[in-house]
This record gives sequence, structure tokens and C-alpha cells, in this order.
Amino acid sequence: MTDHLKPGSTIGILGGGQLGRMLSVAAARLGLKTHIFEPSADAPASHVAYRVTTANYDDTNALVTFARSVDVVTYEFENIPTEALDIIESICPIRPGRRALAISQDRIAEKAFLSQIDIKVAPYAQIDSVENLQAALTTIGAPSILKTRRFGYDGKGQVRITDAGDAESAYAALKGAPAVLEGFVNFEREISVIAARGIDGAVVCYDPGENVHKDGILDTTTVPATLAAGQHMDAVLMAGKILNALDYVGVMGVELFVTPEGLIVNEIAPRVHNTGHWTQNASVVDQFEQHIRAVAGWQLGDGQRHANAVMTNLIGDDVLSYADFTGAGLHLYGKADVKPGRKMGHVNRISPIE
Ligand code: AMP
Repeated sequence: MTDHLKPGSTIGILGGGQLGRMLSVAAARLGLKTHIFEPSADAPASHVAYRVTTANYDDTNALVTFARSVDVVTYEFENIPTEALDIIESICPIRPGRRALAISQDRIAEKAFLSQIDIKVAPYAQIDSVENLQAALTTIGAPSILKTRRFGYDGKGQVRITDAGDAESAYAALKGAPAVLEGFVNFEREISVIAARGIDGAVVCYDPGENVHKDGILDTTTVPATLAAGQHMDAVLMAGKILNALDYVGVMGVELFVTPEGLIVNEIAPRVHNTGHWTQNASVVDQFEQHIRAVAGWQLGDGQRHANAVMTNLIGDDVLSYADFTGAGLHLYGKADVKPGRKMGHVNRISPIE
């Protein structure tokens, strides 16, 4: 704790969406300021942060001024250009570190890293051409999923291949972007572990949540997930292993498939995560405070859950009934325009642990 940020210090956050907003609120509660770096104006985090820089990630002067004004930099999304990170890192520390970012930006690097530390992933192959894809389909088979290596989110940049004969159209759908072919996992359920690691190496994991997606977007997270005790323990141990292997500092979301043969990691996100929003109303220290504590060099807080929870995302028009959510934790992101598929807020319904 010699090196920790004192109240009044400033944390820089790359990205000004809802995650940056909720991180800023958590930081403010701890007496810390945030400075948001975000290309678009009127972003959700800009309403609650101490300071905002509206500039692009290729604006060297803005990046330098931003980095000089803060004590540490963190981020709310993965796809930050490397050059921007180089500029910032020459001035102040970035937490979580660059390795976690580089790995999570590239599905091939991510799967290679997880395999290296003996964590099971879906069968996969690197795809750079149609011929490549056709060859990979002979080993991985169909059904399978072709995903872009980079920049995919909320099910975007993915095509399901049900028949090996669909290789050409699937490859064309991704417009020639470098890709990965993944064998289709017949999962029983999808879960995620929100895990945190402090500067001192301490790890705190929240209870795994069970996730249901609708139209490729997270719909609900339910905690506790329906898991056998052994599966719960495996999930938490896997998350801890990943964080330790990366010498990670901060909160990470680890998404897993539950199968009869064991757990398979789908992907990791080196940041606070939509599937961890339930912690805001069902844990004393939520994922946002936990992340701020970690990047500020503070000891991690208690991640215990004091209630069962169901988090429901408010997507598009769902948000219009906001005034009716009276018996639940309502979190709105302050986005002016309601658009189909846009995450506008979420609601946490909690109930006593039996
Ligand atoms: P992703 O963008 O990789 O998180 O994928 C989005 C969603 O697609 C996941 O939450 C799963 O529901 C589904 N999915 C992704 N990869 C696979 C896979 N290999 N097998 C089965 N379902 C998958």
C-alpha cells in the first residue's frame, strides 16, 4: 500500500460509455476523480466525470495532455489503438497492463494463451483465406462459428456455418477480415466469473452468474448460476489462474460455457463487464469499486454476495418504462437517443439468499 493513490488523485479512463460512467461514479464515492478520454461528445461518462477530453485516439497532443493530467490510466473497452497506448504508457502506468489488452484484442492470441495455461477452449483454427476455411472445416466440422479475430462484440462479426458447403458465403460475409473458425460448443448454459486482482496479487472472485443472450446481446444475468459445487469451484479457479498468469491488476470478465465434459472459456474481457452489473445491488463492494480499488493500488474489497440477483439489460425501447421499475435497482446511462439494440440501462432485482 506504499504506492497507492490518495483521495483527490485522478484516474484516466479511455472510453466514455456506460462502463466509464459507472467507474466514474464508483471513483467519486472513494474520493477519487476521473478524466475521460472519448472521441464522441455528450458520452454517458462525460455527465459524471471530473474532466473530459473529447478527441480521437490519433490525436497525439490530446493524448499527451490527458496522460500528464492523471495518475494512472485504465480503460472501458479493448480496442484501443496500440500507438495511443504507447504514448500514454511513456507518461503514466496503464492498468490492467498491455499484455492482457493485446491478448483480448485478438481471438487467436487469446485462445493460444488460454491453451498454454491448460485452460480448455473450443477447437479453433486461424483463417486467412477461403481455402484455409475449407481445410479447417474438414477437421473442425460443422456446425461451427466463423468470427473476426478483432473488433467483434455483442455477436457482431460472426457467422454460423451449418454446412461445410457454406464456406464461401461465410468468408464473404466477414469481408475478408482475418478470422478464427470455432467448433460449435453444445453448452448447457453460459456463465461468467467477474474476477479482480490487486497490485499485491490478491484475487477476489464474485460468484459466477448465468447469462442469457437475446439477438446476440446479453439479456439477463442470474446469480447464483445453476452449477454443481465442483463446477463453481472450477470456474473461480480458472479465473484466478488467468489473472495470475497475466500478473493482472483490475477487474476481468471471464465468459465460460458449461458442458458435460467440463468448462470451456469462450472469451476474456480485461475490464468491468456487463455480466457483473448485478454486483451493484447484491454485493457491498461492486465490480466498479473493485476495479477502481485495484487500479488505484488499494487493497481489494469484500466481493461477497448478500442477495440473489437477476440483472436485466434495458435494450432500446425497454428503457421507456423506466418510471415503472420501483422495487429494483435501476441504472440508466443517460443516452439521449433510444435506438434498437442500444444498451440504455439495466435493472437489478434482488431477493434474499435462502
Ligand atoms: P462471443 O462474441 O464470442 O462472446 O459470442 C457471442 C455468443 O455467441 C456467445 O455468448 C454464445 O452464446 C455464442 N457462441 C460464441 N461462440 C460459440 C461457440 N464456439 N459455440 C457455441 N456458441 C457460441
